[in-house]
Amino acid sequence: MTTIERTTYLPEGLPAPAPGPDGLAAEFWEAARRHELVVQRCNACKAFQWGPEWICNECHSFDLGYEQVSGRGTIYSWERAWYPVHPALKNGVPYIVALVELPDAGNVRMVGNLLGDPEQDVEIGAEVEAVFEDHAGDEPYTLVQWRVV
Ligand SMILES: [Zn+2]
Repeated sequence: MTTIERTTYLPEGLPAPAPGPDGLAAEFWEAARRHELVVQRCNACKAFQWGPEWICNECHSFDLGYEQVSGRGTIYSWERAWYPVHPALKNGVPYIVALVELPDAGNVRMVGNLLGDPEQDVEIGAEVEAVFEDHAGDEPYTLVQWRVV
């Protein structure tokens, strides 16, 4: 068992971070609530991009939408976080942050937690799938996380 110092960089008393389901990413968060993974896609040139922006990086069109994708991807990169930056994560370390590449969405890459044993061996290129983690409360939200398949 690994012993971890639980000193946080940010001060105690901060609320737990939660998504702000408005603006450019609103459609992403609404889809996550339905347990669907969507990625921003240009309606003019059909390029995928992530994260959401007002303009297409390929053709500079402002005509952007979202498209549902399979939720399957591969690990492009990852890191294991041993120290909690935020007080809300004090008892949540270690955890694994994965950068997941989505082949059916133009190979855009999304960041999320890799679920399972936080001390597991992680292999670059391993196949993963999206997991939808529901959070209750006054303003419920759903996070997109990942697990190896
Ligand atoms: Zn475009």
